[in-house]
Amino acid sequence: MEISTDASGAPGNYTIVRRRFVERLRRAGIRDARTLDAFEAVPRHRFVPEALRDQSYLETPLLIGDGQTISAPGVVAAMTQALALRGDESVLEIGTGSGYQAAILSRLAGSVVSVERIPRLAARARSALDALGVSNVIVFLGDGTQGRADQAPYDRVVVTAGGPEIPKPLLEQLAVGGFLVGPFGERDNQHLVRVQRADEGKYTREVLGRCNFVDLIGRNGWAA
Ligand code: SAH
Repeated sequence: MEISTDASGAPGNYTIVRRRFVERLRRAGIRDARTLDAFEAVPRHRFVPEALRDQSYLETPLLIGDGQTISAPGVVAAMTQALALRGDESVLEIGTGSGYQAAILSRLAGSVVSVERIPRLAARARSALDALGVSNVIVFLGDGTQGRADQAPYDRVVVTAGGPEIPKPLLEQLAVGGFLVGPFGERDNQHLVRVQRADEGKYTREVLGRCNFVDLIGRNGWAA
């Protein structure tokens, strides 16, 4: 059992805050019980810079350093729900960032491979995950637009930075029957899409909504 603490180390406060936070997610349309349980269990404040901790459970993205953000909780929840995880899947996440989404996924899937291009963020995410005892997430440093072929195929792929189009390697590394969820389109305005690999070489695509993510930078993304 996880006992949360507030900034001063006193137990309890964030547990109550998080219950209300999950209630808001439910009212905003997140209905998958396992997803809601994961949001109740994972202490988002442990992935947020100390100075912003009191904003951890607000519906807002927060700066995590190096010009990057931890996405607003509602967006993370919608993407997580769209992945339709049952418990034993292998997941590839592009854009570890704070490590928060990886921590959520770790409770809903079998294993998570998460790729981050900025060394300092990857290191910080790793220590936040370690501090919570999360052991089924591997963080790799590198260009996630090339995927991570050595661990493929993946039952699910989630891209948490916005790219011009879906990187081909990610589609290739997706298992047959699996889903990819991510934001693609213009630099400050993307479609959140879900793609299912129907069969060898066949993919179906649906648009879940509009969004605005930080840039996906790499060989199959935007130029740095
Ligand atoms: N999932 C994160 C959200 C992070 S924001 C969280 O829960 O906090 C998006 C992240 O994607 C940033 O940290 C950015 O550095 C990273 N990123 C952008 N392009 C990338 C690439 N090609 N490979 C890996 N990470 C990338």
